[in-house]
Amino acid sequence: MAVIGFIGLGHMGGPMSANLVKGGHTVQGFDLAPAALGDAAAHGVTTVSSIAEAVSGAEAVITMLPSGKHVLAAYDEILPMATPGALLIDSSTADVADAREAHRRAEEAGFGCIDAPVSGGTAGAEAGTLTFMVGGSETDFQWAESLLEPAARKVIHCGGPGHGQVTKMCNNLILGASMIAVGEAFVLGERLGLSHQALYDVASISTGQCWALTTNCPVPDLVETSRANRDYEPGFASALMLKDLKLALSAAEQSGTDTEIGRLATELYARFNEEGGGDQDFGAIIKSIRNHSTT
Ligand code: NAD
Repeated sequence: MAVIGFIGLGHMGGPMSANLVKGGHTVQGFDLAPAALGDAAAHGVTTVSSIAEAVSGAEAVITMLPSGKHVLAAYDEILPMATPGALLIDSSTADVADAREAHRRAEEAGFGCIDAPVSGGTAGAEAGTLTFMVGGSETDFQWAESLLEPAARKVIHCGGPGHGQVTKMCNNLILGASMIAVGEAFVLGERLGLSHQALYDVASISTGQCWALTTNCPVPDLVETSRANRDYEPGFASALMLKDLKLALSAAEQSGTDTEIGRLATELYARFNEEGGGDQDFGAIIKSIRNHSTT
């Protein structure tokens, strides 16, 4: 078992750090938000008041921050203070260029580094069943795999530096588009007099089956884990989904990839964010679909 520094104890980092503690690691956690520190302390995390304290004596440092810019800013503090030989694991969803810059800086400072974004949402973070997608060397991947075990269902090596983030962005392109499709299907059904239950019972065991339907259904009272049951409290906020879709779109532009559905999905999440939905779970996009349907 290891001493792990954990920076960013939010919706994801909070439960992830709690599971690492449950798995036997000592976790030194830091967050700028006092409420996040309080929650983590209640789950056995040793909370500290700076990044320097979090990384002190730590064999691995995990960052779980809003974006790549936050990660690079945190690395400015982490790299001079981290324990020699420590492995740096960034689990934030970040731009590929930022992830590669983090690898470059870490390598220059003599640290092993992986980008290891996750899929599974807050439900997966709480249950310790996240999928980690790793970019970096085989040696660093194997080390991370053993460290992350209490928080993971699966840790998958996707390639070299940045390839974890490429995988994540492609996955979330599927997720953002499928949540819109599920929302549209429920609203269309509603307007044609179909019950939510009937559509769910069929689609959840048929070819319409997908995570957006069976784990985070945008309609309440059908799936226990869905954030729709909690008035769309995130979960995975719409603002973060928009962030991920923009990352995918920008990568698509740079690589000349034709991602028309991705472009439309980005526009629809941008519209929902402008309408004030950014703080709500991304499944709340169904409200925007209802609002924009004609009466
Ligand atoms: P969050 O906003 O709940 O948590 C981020 C935390 O980082 C906050 O508590 C904030 O106070 C803290 N923070 C920001 N700057 C800091 C700094 N310099 N030092 C210490 N703490 C700092 O976000 P989240 O939902 O936990 O998401 C975190 C990352 O995981 C994002 O990159 C997101 O895209 C990704 N992600 C989220 C989900 C999800 O379902 N929420 C799923 C997969 C991936």
